[in-house]
Amino acid sequence: MLNFTVGPVMSDPDVIEVANHSTPYFRTPEFSEVMLENERLMLEFLNAPPDSRAVFLTASGTGSMESVVMNVLNDSDKIIVINGGSFGHRFVELCELHKRNFTQVKCEFGHQLVREQLEGLENYTALLINMHETSSGVLYDMEMVAGFCRVNNILLIVDAISAFIADPIDMTAFGAAVVIAGSQKALAVQPGISFIVFSPEAIERVGNNPETCMYLSLRQALMNGKRGQTPFTPAVTTLLQINTRLHQISNSGGILQERKKIASVAKDFRSSIKDLPFELVSEFPSNAVTCLRPIHGGAKKIVRILRDEYQIWVCPNSGEMADVVFRIGHIGYITHEDNHKLIDALYDMNRRGLL
Ligand SMILES: *Cc1c(COP(=O)(O)O)cnc(C)c1O
Repeated sequence: MLNFTVGPVMSDPDVIEVANHSTPYFRTPEFSEVMLENERLMLEFLNAPPDSRAVFLTASGTGSMESVVMNVLNDSDKIIVINGGSFGHRFVELCELHKRNFTQVKCEFGHQLVREQLEGLENYTALLINMHETSSGVLYDMEMVAGFCRVNNILLIVDAISAFIADPIDMTAFGAAVVIAGSQKALAVQPGISFIVFSPEAIERVGNNPETCMYLSLRQALMNGKRGQTPFTPAVTTLLQINTRLHQISNSGGILQERKKIASVAKDFRSSIKDLPFELVSEFPSNAVTCLRPIHGGAKKIVRILRDEYQIWVCPNSGEMADVVFRIGHIGYITHEDNHKLIDALYDMNRRGLL
């Protein structure tokens, strides 16, 4: 099967090979070394400010989102949540569950967030945003958001789980306090690990906030991470794969080169399907995903036929958008030929009157 979903995605053969062994014991200086290197490379790739830290949680991306809501924010925060789809909605649900004081700014599906929507929220203390709202494919205007947070002294927390590597992120330029990412999106490693990068200000907050959980305690994660360890048994193999992949990126021109690759796959796909009966859902797409609205409807059927008759996975949407749109991921180990197999399959379906 060719996998064009938004994660887990296809991995490089060298990364797959790492998982082809028994899991090594991890309370060792060698594994600590790997972890410290993972942290260092992550800080470098995100251009984190001096004295930032990164921790790796054995949890999917949502685990890191939840731990940030629990450990970085507190009862006295007034929080803005940008909600333009299912991932924005997830932050809303987390804030509700953990009884945070928040206001949501809703964006219509596929629409950009504009400055006017933040009017009147200048006295808030924190802002939660999914840099790329993966359900609609929108890449938010981070320059505008970062500027708003900077002038109003608002703590900027960025879920970059699907934007990391695919889209330009510069933690220093954004002035972001927290950036969250995960193993199974553009990093293209098996699922199981998500990571959180903290600015010194965010580290201080974690230290001052009460500890209200054990497994997702960021105070414990930060403390153990100093010696390259985790409080509990981590997804060791996934962390070893992450190390291989980070080295690979570093040795083949760095994160910029990797982003160019993803952007060119996305561009090739978008320009090749212009003659097909699809509408692009967003004018502000991330490089990671193209969200398509079939003009004649039937998104679910298209996803099913691609799977059953062409051995290609694309990503269905959920909820009320399930039969209205579907998504093509451009992340992971996708070759030019793979990309054209997908494009050819879509043209073939069009010839057969199936679009
Ligand atoms: C994939 C994703 C997540 C996390 O999803 P998990 O299934 O918990 O890994 C969170 N936010 C965004 C924007 C994502 O794309």
